[in-house]
Amino acid sequence: VGEEEKKKRGELFEVPEIKFTKLFINGSFVDAASGRTFETRDPRTGDVIATVAEADKVDVDSAVRAARDAFDHGEWPRMSGSERGRIIARFADLVEQHADELAALESLDAGKHPAITKAVDFGNALGSLRYFAGAADKIHGETLKMQAQFQGYTLREPLGVAGIIIPWNFPSTMFAIKVAPALAAGCAMVVKPAEQTPLSALYFAHLAKQAGIPDGVINVVPGFGSTAGAALASHMDVDMVTFTGSTEVGRLIMKASAESNLKPVYLELGGKSPLIIFDDADLDMAVELAVSANFVNKGEACVAASRVYVQERIYSRFEEKLAERMKSWVVGDPFSDPRADQGPQVDKVQYERVLSYIDHGKREGATLLTGGRPCGQKEKGYYIEPTVFTNVKEDMVIAKEEIFGPVMCLMKFKTVEEAIARANDTRHGLGAGVVTRDLDVANRVVRAVRAGVVWVNCYFALGSDCPFGGRKMSGFGKDEGMHALDKYLALKSVVTPLRASPW
Ligand code: NAD
Repeated sequence: VGEEEKKKRGELFEVPEIKFTKLFINGSFVDAASGRTFETRDPRTGDVIATVAEADKVDVDSAVRAARDAFDHGEWPRMSGSERGRIIARFADLVEQHADELAALESLDAGKHPAITKAVDFGNALGSLRYFAGAADKIHGETLKMQAQFQGYTLREPLGVAGIIIPWNFPSTMFAIKVAPALAAGCAMVVKPAEQTPLSALYFAHLAKQAGIPDGVINVVPGFGSTAGAALASHMDVDMVTFTGSTEVGRLIMKASAESNLKPVYLELGGKSPLIIFDDADLDMAVELAVSANFVNKGEACVAASRVYVQERIYSRFEEKLAERMKSWVVGDPFSDPRADQGPQVDKVQYERVLSYIDHGKREGATLLTGGRPCGQKEKGYYIEPTVFTNVKEDMVIAKEEIFGPVMCLMKFKTVEEAIARANDTRHGLGAGVVTRDLDVANRVVRAVRAGVVWVNCYFALGSDCPFGGRKMSGFGKDEGMHALDKYLALKSVVTPLRASPW
């Protein structure tokens, strides 16, 4: 087996050395003012990987001050868009050069597979950095004709200091899809990574400095949500907050804004996305889509299609094929077993949470088709069997609540109308999928489903030019695509008289 093939299979990824564990404020790595640290753990074993400086309100204040100063007095927002774009592109190049090490670091922190992390998580992160490097000099307003004596134009100005709060499921992608447009717009920012996965954001900060992003423009404050996160959300000098995470915390962030300076808030929250499979579908493809839409990244994905609706006529055949497919799905240590399709859940809390949902499903009377148990090696690690419940009823807790783990709910439907109604019968509205060869059916579902993104005969396909974000209680505001820039820009209208003295 050649070097390239080995690398593809993940055999050349080694457990990396941990280089950055302090807060990154105003261009320097510093200890927390309190001197406190917290532990980040390896989900494969539960062992400590590193102790990381723990930011609280005092450190968030320092980081916001640095960002404020960089924004109010620094060169970044005043630079030409093309110059900013050049520096962001250099940042992207550095991320690419360090992609092996970064992918290994992220995989260690989050229980991912290094080869997949490199291809997918860093593929997306790089795509986003490059896309917004190219967007930085394409930010412009409109000319307004207005009425007889006046004309106007709009300016799209950098908004100010952005507060960026990100989760642990795709830490590097989340960092890039929020930081890249904020940089392109000319904002300064404070990033609060998730306490479970603080390491990649700190490495990114180091590379940003090397790329020439001025001190104070990007600050990274690892710490806990109720302290560092809450301080950022309620800060009077933060001009906007963008957040990805749970619906409960999304609510707290809106509340913090309402009770502080009414900063705009953008939320990308959870989902309970439907995948609707019609009886004319290519069955092998449909099974493959259902599997990847539920078990990729161990089900820790906000758009996971955890409600799979299969049309009555093919339901039993689908079950059989799915059960057969799951026999070759490998759960294992992503570093030592390159065949592993699925690693451990991110931490003990999530592991126990997912297992308690599985118990709930059993008690509620759903039938286990596959999985349903923990499968750690020697009682270590947060591994869970990929679990498929069949005969799930719409009113069961497992069909209603986001589980955020490797758990699929299979349900039967008869007609297109019924499928659409049931797909929409949820408080969430993030993703949806439809599998059919019938264009009319596909179009009906696409138009009727209330979701931020709908996939036809595919799932999880995303890109830096594809706006991403939900509806209903899955949040509002888009990451990715040119629309993402709007969050970081203030629209100013300017009106001038047509003649020097219109009166
Ligand atoms: P969370 O919402 O608590 O954490 C996400 C981020 O918000 C972290 O950085 C966290 O420190 C921060 N945070 C927490 N409390 C905060 C507060 N009061 N103010 C400001 N920031 C705060 O998510 P979690 O508890 O780690 O996971 C719980 C559930 O959330 C998951 O099981 C899943 O359902 C959902 N989730 C969704 C996504 C997504 O991509 N939409 C990502 C992660 C988790």
